[in-house]
Amino acid sequence: MQKIGTDVYVLDTHGHSAILSNTRLILFDTGIEEDATRLLAEMQITGYKPTDVQNIILTHRHMDHIAGLKKMKTLVDAKVACHELDADVIGAIDDRLTDSQIYEGFLVIHTPGHTEGNIALLDQEADLLIAGDSFRNDPDGLNHMPDNYNNDPVQHRQSIKKLANFNFSTAIVGHGDPVEGDASNLLKSLINKNGW
Ligand SMILES: [Zn+2]
Repeated sequence: MQKIGTDVYVLDTHGHSAILSNTRLILFDTGIEEDATRLLAEMQITGYKPTDVQNIILTHRHMDHIAGLKKMKTLVDAKVACHELDADVIGAIDDRLTDSQIYEGFLVIHTPGHTEGNIALLDQEADLLIAGDSFRNDPDGLNHMPDNYNNDPVQHRQSIKKLANFNFSTAIVGHGDPVEGDASNLLKSLINKNGW
C-alpha cells in the first residue's frame, strides 16, 4: 500500500485499486476475486472500516479490476458506478456514467479503446487523475496498454491524447507505480515522442 498526499491510498491489488477519503470513502476498482480480503485488510490499516465505503467506481470491465466486486458487495453497502458502455457486461451497476459528467466530485473522462467503456476520473481540486488502464507506468516511463488488451488500439491512443488536454500533477494507474509531480506533462511527452 502506498499513501499519496493526505487522503489517497493505492492498494496492492492486481490492477491497483485506490481509496480516496475526502468527506467519505470512495473505492476505485476491486481487483481480482482473491484481492477482496487483502483489500479490506489494507483498508483497515488506513483506519477505515469496510462500512465506511460509500461508493465503488470501476474504471472498466476487465477482470483484474472488477472480479473482487461480488465479494465486496457482500461486505460493504456501497453504490457501484461505471461507464454506461461497460455496465451491462459488469452487471449490478447502480449508476451508469457518461463523458463529462461530475460524479462524486470527479470529472468523468471517457477514454475508450482499452475497453468501450473505459474511463478516467479527474479530481480537479486535488490535481489528481485516477487513470485506471487509460495508460500505464512502466519502469522506463508512461506508455499505452499492450495492444492485445485493447479493444481498439487506435482509439486507445486517441484517448491518451484526450487525457493530455487536462492538467493533473498526480496519476494513479492500474499497472505501475503512481505518477507524482508532473503526470500530464509526461503524458504530453509520450504523445510527442510517438507522433500520435
Ligand atoms: Zn484493463
